[in-house]
Amino acid sequence: LEDKIREKDKADRATVEKVLDPATRLIMLNLINNEILSEIHGVISTGKEANVYHALSGPRMDEQRRTLALESGGAVQPVCGEQQQPVHLAVKVYKTAILAFKDRTPYASEDFRLRAAYKKSSHRQMVKMWADKEMHNLKRIRAAGIPCPEPFHLRLHVLVMGLIGDSHGWPAPRLHNIKFEDTTLDEALATWTDMYRQVLGYMRIMYQRCKLVHADLSEYNLLYHEGKPYVIDVSQAVGHEHPRALDFLRLDIKNMSNFFERKGVDCLPERAVFNFIVLMEDGSQDTENIPAMLDELYENHKKELEKEYESGVAVEDLEAKKEVDTEVFRQQYIPRTLEQVYDIESELEKGEGDELVYKALLSQKVANGDRPSDASESGAEDNDTDSESGSQLSQHGK
Ligand code: ADP
Ligand code: MG
Repeated sequence: LEDKIREKDKADRATVEKVLDPATRLIMLNLINNEILSEIHGVISTGKEANVYHALSGPRMDEQRRTLALESGGAVQPVCGEQQQPVHLAVKVYKTAILAFKDRTPYASEDFRLRAAYKKSSHRQMVKMWADKEMHNLKRIRAAGIPCPEPFHLRLHVLVMGLIGDSHGWPAPRLHNIKFEDTTLDEALATWTDMYRQVLGYMRIMYQRCKLVHADLSEYNLLYHEGKPYVIDVSQAVGHEHPRALDFLRLDIKNMSNFFERKGVDCLPERAVFNFIVLMEDGSQDTENIPAMLDELYENHKKELEKEYESGVAVEDLEAKKEVDTEVFRQQYIPRTLEQVYDIESELEKGEGDELVYKALLSQKVANGDRPSDASESGAEDNDTDSESGSQLSQHGK
């Protein structure tokens, strides 16, 4: 069995062996033994929390794929040519050293029980939980039609997924790394603008259909492939009932605005984006309407600006006003628990709290009788491995 890896190119072997701890090595060998993988190639990325390797599928991979594709209702798309050809894979190995995960504890540490469990559980189990979450979240995101890697196989802290990249196994670049050199500035700007709009659409679908907030959305976790951004790195995504979900959403929006504005895109005000993602203005979750809804948002924004301009406000002041409003929005208080929601409800009845970002969302929630705790059930297709950790995370503050 070990010979299988030894047969491979010596340089590759050196890289792989240097960074794999014995347990991970054993898992990888098992994946080869079970013919889920046929070859493990070099490292695509080494990060604080995970390493990602390029691998080729084994004969049993297609079976796995078909089952998964059926489960998620999606069609099987061969990544590289014929069905029988091996497909390119990305194998994400979560690092089992607890130090690497220190940064992630804020997401979990607010919950007393989880904190206790965190201290008690072995490192490996905690890491496994993040791998579980990534698999589960990828399935949900994919089922909603958002471009992302297809998760194939999970074994403890090792996640096997489809490679987003070309037919030679080169991974697609992150948004951070792309430069449009052989196009005109106008063309590049049009492409960036298009991407910005697509990402806004993803965030809305993720929130409304998947009931998820990415919580680490940035130009580093979006890959550019076949003219579309692909969402990756979703292990930290939280359910929209999570006490801090809306804070994380605001941060995601801020990251995207900052990035796309640097690329010259005329971004919508962050407050408007937030409402677009969270509210269902047309009363449906229809994704086909998204481009039209965005057009309308831009149209409204333009009209507002024109109105202000006509009433004599100088262009510079309009700019400044947008900046101030965005700053206010970024700092604004968003209630995090059901109790806080009801406190604000009574405030609203008394005619106070008009400034709250949450107002419109609140009236909608109250109208639907939608309680945050119900949401986790309705959103998930698959009540599998994640439900334990997910519900622990979401029970905070009740
Ligand atoms: P982390 O940021 O936690 O280290 P990521 O999931 O973001 O982990 O993966 C790290 C990098 O590996 C990404 O920025 C991307 O370049 C690459 N990568 C991850 N998954 C894939 C994939 N399915 N296809 C192609 N490249 C990937
Ligand atoms: Mg990442």
